[in-house]
Amino acid sequence: MDRIDRLLNKEGSFSKEDIIQLLQAEGNDKTKLFERSARIKSQFVGRKVYFRGLVEFSNICSKNCYYCGIRRANGNTERYNLTDDEILDAVRFVHENRYGSLVLQSGEVSSPRFTRRITRLLQKIQEISGGTMGVTLSLGEQPEEVYRQWLENGAHRYLLRIEASSRELYHKLHPNDSIHDYDKRLGCLRNLQRLGYQTGTGVMIGLPFQTYEHLANDLIFMRDFDIDMVGMGPYIEHKDTPLYEYREQLFSEKYRFELTLKMIAILRIMMKDINIASTTALQAINPIGRERALKIGANVLMPNVTPGMYRNNYKLYENKPCTDEEAGDCTNCLDVRIGMAGDEIAFGERGDPRHYYRRVEKKEES
Ligand code: SAH
Ligand code: SF4
Repeated sequence: MDRIDRLLNKEGSFSKEDIIQLLQAEGNDKTKLFERSARIKSQFVGRKVYFRGLVEFSNICSKNCYYCGIRRANGNTERYNLTDDEILDAVRFVHENRYGSLVLQSGEVSSPRFTRRITRLLQKIQEISGGTMGVTLSLGEQPEEVYRQWLENGAHRYLLRIEASSRELYHKLHPNDSIHDYDKRLGCLRNLQRLGYQTGTGVMIGLPFQTYEHLANDLIFMRDFDIDMVGMGPYIEHKDTPLYEYREQLFSEKYRFELTLKMIAILRIMMKDINIASTTALQAINPIGRERALKIGANVLMPNVTPGMYRNNYKLYENKPCTDEEAGDCTNCLDVRIGMAGDEIAFGERGDPRHYYRRVEKKEES
């Protein structure tokens, strides 16, 4: 048996060193990695792609993450905030087109007014879909009480990327102050899991100062945390951010893209029944990037359904795709693209991760 086969056979019990080797696999070894992850995807989650209509409803943000184009200090971004009616139009679109699930995402705002607004929207989403729609929130760090209120009003899932699971790297990517605190973010992730959300996290790949060891530890963090969903994508530099000055040190975009595919493949082998998103940042680098990720292990796609005129201003990074199309155009083009990846869109299904139910059962037994 080849060395690579022996390595891949360790599956769920990969060590940090194993992962570092796999992240650097090339040629035949890389092909074998992708074949194994594709096979595991077919066996454990099937060749279905679950849709989550993504509504990026506001780019107003109180934080200053060094990598992000909509950070508070970026005066070059025109700020927008959709009205409730505009958001609900997007919700209706998702419902009528049988996407099954919706993601509400924005910059981070924490206030009683914001909390009430989201609660009200969640109630309306329930009304529109007759309680059938899967709802994911991605609204950053919030007090536990707020997470509880949203859960009680119809949110099921929450996405909060740890961004970098290494405390030391996290500090290099964020200002050193109380609103950019690694422990606080980790505490939020724990609260979400304890409250009963389907809990999602993720990291950026190819960041300045990031090593293979960091990336291997990121995957181990996800396994140890017993996460239900993951969204990770390549870091893409933005000229109006502090990290832009390190652009010369980055891996090429092509390499960051390949590294992201490997991270997805390794994670699929390690955590067979979680949901893994094929993120938009992949498409920003490679026109068929998301389809390649679906082929080798991802099983969730988040078509952007934000009303067209605002999309141009939600620029976390540059070259964001599909910023000038209306949502309807995207459905047709995705149908064809997903077929190319050998998958089929699971219209009308919520697509909850099997892992979540297994985790909850395990907890009840213990
Ligand atoms: N404000 C919320 C959600 C919106 S930001 C939050 O931060 O949790 C969503 C994600 O965009 C972030 O988690 C981050 O991982 C990603 N992101 C931000 N800037 C990016 C960049 N330059 N390249 C790639 N991904 C980026
Ligand atoms: Fe705000 Fe999220 Fe961007 Fe950080 S990553 S600046 S919290 S939108």
